[in-house]
Amino acid sequence: MFRRYREKQHSQKCCRPGFFSLRIMPDSKKKKLDSFILEGAAPFQDKKIKIDDTTLRDGEQTAGVVFANQEKVRIAKLLDEIGVDQIEVGIPAMGGDEKKTIKYIAGLDLNASILAWNRAVIDDIKHSVDCGVNAVAISMSASDIHIEHKLKKSRTWVLDQIKESVEFAKHHDFYVSVNAEDASRADLDFLVRFALSAREYGADRIRFCDTVGILDPFDTFNVISFLRSRVDLEIEMHTHNDFGMATANALAGIKAGAIYVNTTVNGLGERAGNAALEEVAMALKYISKLDLGLHTERFRELSEYVAGASSRTIPVWKPIVGANVFAHESGIHADGVIKNPLNYEVFSPEEVGLERQLVIGKHSGGKSIEMKFKEFGIELAPKDSREVLRLARKLAVELKRGLFDKELMNIFKDYQDHTKESGKGSSGV
Ligand SMILES: [Zn+2]
Repeated sequence: MFRRYREKQHSQKCCRPGFFSLRIMPDSKKKKLDSFILEGAAPFQDKKIKIDDTTLRDGEQTAGVVFANQEKVRIAKLLDEIGVDQIEVGIPAMGGDEKKTIKYIAGLDLNASILAWNRAVIDDIKHSVDCGVNAVAISMSASDIHIEHKLKKSRTWVLDQIKESVEFAKHHDFYVSVNAEDASRADLDFLVRFALSAREYGADRIRFCDTVGILDPFDTFNVISFLRSRVDLEIEMHTHNDFGMATANALAGIKAGAIYVNTTVNGLGERAGNAALEEVAMALKYISKLDLGLHTERFRELSEYVAGASSRTIPVWKPIVGANVFAHESGIHADGVIKNPLNYEVFSPEEVGLERQLVIGKHSGGKSIEMKFKEFGIELAPKDSREVLRLARKLAVELKRGLFDKELMNIFKDYQDHTKESGKGSSGV
């Protein structure tokens, strides 16, 4: 609720992180693991990192994606049930169905704060007032490229617009995020002036937008550290995936002191998309050691729903929620997972709503085939196991894919028939 965003600002000076803390793990902690890990620092354990999900705004801006009204409502409810802190629901100034749906979602009394996107224009914000949301994002370009070539205005004009729109929004008691569009290409001194203006007129945070996805995690860490050292205002990361670094950059920003992360389910969003909710949440938990307390076991369900609503399939190799993330085929890996899943998995599939699968295919080994047939209630003798494996690999190469359970059973039946006919007999079944 709105008051959730009134939390007092903690001093962050005491807990500025180093970039990586390279630490030799003591034996007591990792038993006899004679190794080291790059352990993510946990810099803000006293300050909760918050997810502001923009599937319904930036996600829907993906070229060719349109959510039906009821799909927007369902996605908002799912995000709320999963526990995100804020939901960016759309753009009220578009009017029509968009405005009606935003108003409807704002009236659902969800736990999450409901944020509407606006240009730095008073008329836009009036539409947000009509919708009954409790938070607004006010977007304004921060880079000279945008100011000169998109807006065709001046830096002074930009600061004037921030003053006018933020004052108007605060007058209506909104939680205000000032979105610094194209911040990653902005002049740093001007970006500081931009953020100081936002703060002076009452903004609650600044959204740092890597609008064209041009940063790497090292530069992201540096620029967010710089901004934090100059302006006492909470920072939100909005990162794009043009070079495949959206999630990494979001984490780098958090490591440098950002508190909010703007995400989308499945990484939907303009061009190559945004930082994916499921990736950010799980990477924060397992790499940065920051557990956001989300119901991650519903990630696959959410991912499937949004995939259907956006008519975009989930690639099987998609990090965190892809169907192959817990599928093991190669003999060495499958054997390792059978012995202990930790050999090749960082967390359990149940944690994100998936199931572990042993895939029988060209690279499978004897242990996998034995394990697979145990699932069918069949104990294979070593000789049979070797032969069934040989036949399974052969078929997988012919078909150029892994095998379905039914195909494996057919191989086994054919093998049994063949051994009976040739009078050799099959043992152990
Ligand atoms: Zn964006």
